[in-house]
Amino acid sequence: MPSYDAIVIGVGGMGSAAIYHLAKRGWKVLGLEQYSIPNDLGSSHGHSRMIRYTLQEHPSYVPLVRRAYELWHELEDSAGETLIVTTGSVRAGPPDSPFFKGAKEACDVHGIPYEILTATEVNKRFPGYRFPDEISSVYQADGGFLLPERCILDHVWAAKEAGAEVHEHEAVLDWQPDGEGVRVNTGQGAYTAGRLVVTAGAWAAKIAPQIARHALPERQVLGWFQPERPELFRPESFPVFGIWTEQGRYYGFPSYSVPGFKLGRAHHLRQQVDPDKMDREVHAEDEEILRQFASRYFPLGAGQALTLTTCMYTNTPDEHFIIGVLPDNPQVSVAAGFSGHGFKFASVIGEIMADLAQHGETRHDISLFRLDRFNP
Ligand SMILES: Cc1cc2nc3c(=O)[nH]c(=O)nc-3n(C[C@H](O)[C@H](O)[C@H](O)COP(=O)(O)OP(=O)(O)OC[C@H]3O[C@@H](n4cnc5c(N)ncnc54)[C@H](O)[C@@H]3O)c2cc1C
Repeated sequence: MPSYDAIVIGVGGMGSAAIYHLAKRGWKVLGLEQYSIPNDLGSSHGHSRMIRYTLQEHPSYVPLVRRAYELWHELEDSAGETLIVTTGSVRAGPPDSPFFKGAKEACDVHGIPYEILTATEVNKRFPGYRFPDEISSVYQADGGFLLPERCILDHVWAAKEAGAEVHEHEAVLDWQPDGEGVRVNTGQGAYTAGRLVVTAGAWAAKIAPQIARHALPERQVLGWFQPERPELFRPESFPVFGIWTEQGRYYGFPSYSVPGFKLGRAHHLRQQVDPDKMDREVHAEDEEILRQFASRYFPLGAGQALTLTTCMYTNTPDEHFIIGVLPDNPQVSVAAGFSGHGFKFASVIGEIMADLAQHGETRHDISLFRLDRFNP
């Protein structure tokens, strides 16, 4: 039976980074992916993912994003292509909203420079925006977006160059502890390894039932709309944004690589799903939610829908990630429950997963993500 130092289940955003870091450390690694690499059936497709220091989620994400930026730039250098498009980022909402207050706090705690802009100032500086008076914004110049499909491919190519083996279209059926290591069974064969790394995204709970109650997949919808004034929705004139409104949390991106102003509503219709049975069609109601928002806050971007697609979040109860070693199986580590904000960190999560496989611990502060926090 073929044997490895580590097997990584799921080669999406996180798994591609994990195999890269393990292979770079000289480990004999196998990555197993049930679909193609990249694919549009999980959580990492759609041409852009926001990266920003305005981390209203919690100030302790800031050191992680700092390291993530460094690693993305290293990957850009080795791949010889752009992976981050810098547009600036706007984090907005009423002054007492968690988006505005939290983004400002994260920057203050970590000495990240930013500007506070009124709605009038935002609308003047970025004329694609039409924020109402009650909205305040934290503008941070280093924000922008990653090209997720390219990030995954570049991690995989670099991992292969460092000796990793990667199998596409090979689904893991199950795994068992095998002495100090694991045995992994797929539709095509069986493998053994000293360490198992589970980065299976929305399917993580099927591979690691220990986290099943706390990593719940949810259907999302993304739309690309035809702007009436395309020049106002280009990366040089349109920063990425997230805004807290009474109707929910919305986010958006300038037109890039595919036509249209891209936007979505976080948690969309709050539909929990089985990733193997999710409704992947987009319906009139889905489009209407996005269009109503665009018409109010970005009226010059609310033209015809060019593309609409589905995607999945995997939510934890507190929307912080789940990262750690399984208590009963210390040879197995899991990274899951990224709750709709994980991609920007994928490069550093890869480093963390390599640390956990190699040493059982990491120098990065991952205390917010402990597996046992939901089972005191
Ligand atoms: C609409 C949307 C917008 C988002 N916007 C942002 C954003 O702007 N910024 C940001 O930072 N984050 C964002 N996120 C979140 C981010 O994209 C995710 O947190 C991240 O992509 C998760 O990566 P992953 O590796 O866990 O999952 P995936 O990339 O989906 O990878 C998991 C892989 O595991 C494979 N797999 C599963 N089971 C098996 C098995 N049994 N055998 C073999 N392979 C298996 C799957 O096929 C899949 O390819 C967004 C997410 C969505 C859905």
